[in-house]
Amino acid sequence: MVIKAYKIQFDQIVFASDEAEVQKNCQTPYKNHPNGCPNYKNNWSCPPYAPTVQKTQQSLENYRFFWMLVLKTPIPKINTKFLKKWKIKRVNMRITKTLNNYLSYLQSNHRDWKFYYCSECNLCSEKNYSKCTCPTDPCRFPNKFRISPEAAGIDVFASLKKINILIEMDPITNLQRIGMCATDENVDFAVEYKKFENQLSILNKIDSLGT
Ligand code: SF4
Repeated sequence: MVIKAYKIQFDQIVFASDEAEVQKNCQTPYKNHPNGCPNYKNNWSCPPYAPTVQKTQQSLENYRFFWMLVLKTPIPKINTKFLKKWKIKRVNMRITKTLNNYLSYLQSNHRDWKFYYCSECNLCSEKNYSKCTCPTDPCRFPNKFRISPEAAGIDVFASLKKINILIEMDPITNLQRIGMCATDENVDFAVEYKKFENQLSILNKIDSLGT
C-alpha cells in the first residue's frame, strides 16, 4: 500500500451548500443500496447527527495546512469474476482499516490536528461492542468517535479535482481510500507512514510471542 498526501488550500476544499444537500447525498440510491446509505440516521458520526457544514468550516478555517490522504493498492489480478469480486471486497476492507489505523496513529501523536476518517465510525466494533448505539442510546465514545469528510459536508472527489487529482470512480487499476487532515505544520506523511508500519510490525511481533 502507498500513501499519497495532497496539500490543498482551504478555499479549494469543496463543501456542500447546506445540510439539505448532505442529507440528500446520504439518501441517494447507489449500487446494492436502493435506499441510500444504511448509516444515515444509524450512526452518531453520520448525518443528521454529524457536524453541520458551517461547523465543519469553522473548525477548519484557522488551520494552516490541509491534506487529502489517499491510501492506494493495486487491484488484484484474478481471472474468475466471483473470486475477484470477493477479493476486492476483502482488500477494500483491509485498506479502509489500514488508513483509519494510520490516522488513529497520527491522532494519538498529534492531538491538535483535525482528522477525518474513511467511512462511518466503527470504533465500537473495533472494541468488540456489537454495533453503534445510534439512534437509541448515547455514543459510547463521544470524545473519540470518527467522522468522515463526506458526513461533515466535504466533497473529497470534487476537492481533489480542484487540485487536478482525478480519482477513479469505478477503479480499474487501484483501490483507494481517502481521509483528511488539517495541521499547523508541514508534514511528510510518507515518513510518518513508515513509522506507523514499523510500529505495527513491532506490535505484531510482540503479539506473536504470546501465541
Ligand atoms: S463510537 Fe460507537 S457509538 Fe459512537 S459513533 Fe462510533 S460506533 Fe457509534
